[in-house]
Amino acid sequence: MCGIFGISDNKDASKLNYVGLFTLQHRGQESAGMAVDSKGSIHYYNGMGLVSEVFSNDMFQSFQGSSAIGHVRYSTTGSSNVNNAQPLFFNSYLGQTAIAHNGNLTNAAALRTQLQKQGAIFQTSTDSEVIIHLMAKYHRATIEDTIADNLNKLEGAYSFLFLSPGKMIGARDPNGIRPLVLGKLGKSYILSSETCAIEVVGGEVVREIEPGEIVVIEKGKLKFKKFGKPRKTAKCIFEQVYFARPDSVFSGRTVQLARYDIGRLLAREMKNVKADIVSGVPDSGTAYALGFAKESGLPYQTVFMRNRYTGRSFIQPDQKIREFTAHLKLAPIKDVIKGKTIILIDDSLVRGTTSKKIIKNLKKAGAKKIIMVIGSPPITNSCYYGIDTPTRKELIAAKLKTEQIRKFINADALHYLNLPDLIKACGNNKDKDFCTACFTGKYPTRTK
Ligand code: AMP
Repeated sequence: MCGIFGISDNKDASKLNYVGLFTLQHRGQESAGMAVDSKGSIHYYNGMGLVSEVFSNDMFQSFQGSSAIGHVRYSTTGSSNVNNAQPLFFNSYLGQTAIAHNGNLTNAAALRTQLQKQGAIFQTSTDSEVIIHLMAKYHRATIEDTIADNLNKLEGAYSFLFLSPGKMIGARDPNGIRPLVLGKLGKSYILSSETCAIEVVGGEVVREIEPGEIVVIEKGKLKFKKFGKPRKTAKCIFEQVYFARPDSVFSGRTVQLARYDIGRLLAREMKNVKADIVSGVPDSGTAYALGFAKESGLPYQTVFMRNRYTGRSFIQPDQKIREFTAHLKLAPIKDVIKGKTIILIDDSLVRGTTSKKIIKNLKKAGAKKIIMVIGSPPITNSCYYGIDTPTRKELIAAKLKTEQIRKFINADALHYLNLPDLIKACGNNKDKDFCTACFTGKYPTRTK
């Protein structure tokens, strides 16, 4: 998963873009980058690490432009190195262009081989690069027509931002799998993966870019264009389950409230459950647990102290350190836990290893019983669209039944949310157009 943010026609474009990317940091922490349109010339800078590590205050003295696009990366295809950091930049017949991509292209490997056979030399191992070669090879009179023509050759999930001299362009795939929202700040337009970043820079949300829609921002004006054959809208429901920031709005509904409602629905399903306290696995589990507590009347309690400062250095520790990193990130609060039956809510169970570790720690801290509650259905299928779920054989629910999973994680009970309730909560009782392939195996695109 990644985050993209762009802002047009603003003398502070690069600084505001920094703030936008900083707000989308939860969508990717591996690399960050930005491209600016500086008097008709595109300049870019990418680096490994967090937004605040890649860009320094001093840099913005010279790194300025009238429009900017940026990217934060969480690699799902291609390795984690600076070569794969985005925006990618290229100089073709149409001139200079920078691109930033969120999503996964399911036919990228086939396109890459085909293009290489025709002489294309790839510079990165990302799926995103294929669009560059397609645009360089098959061009039309304008960049927007070139983009529209070539997006038709892509399969899978994508939201793209393009920056060329005088133009900022956004596009969303025909199924609308990955998000892209339009915002406005004075005379500037904003394109962002999530609404939270538009609001943090002081802008107003205008609307979602529709599936299969391109927006061209030029000289302060908007032009919309549809591309491709219309397809069934299938917005990734995992955005609301786990990925998106709670203050962002998806399908007309703040994510925090969708998660809170899921908690309430879970409590209704589990009416007769007996427990002392309800808690959530930080951070995403908290909203679910608050909703559950409200509906059930059971008290909400924080059972873990989360250390927010465990930075990148702790992501790949050696074996000795790894043994205590679980405690380092989430330290159990013993006096709250001791002797209690705890309803513990997490957003999802993927491999099952996190829940297993957490339950072990809670029991070690004196918990009497753990009733594990998951705010989404069993994940039985891999995601090919940018959510980093592993191959099927690593997905615990693809191999084991609920009772076997309960035993594996050593919970005293295990309960999952059902799919209709998930759709109801995320879609505000109206929107049903979601991609739920990770739960159902029904993929919305032709290739996987
Ligand atoms: P596990 O079952 O050990 O694979 O991990 C499940 C936990 O990882 C849950 O607590 C989720 O909050 C979190 N999670 C779910 N999906 C992802 C993802 N794509 N990337 C990182 N963490 C995730």
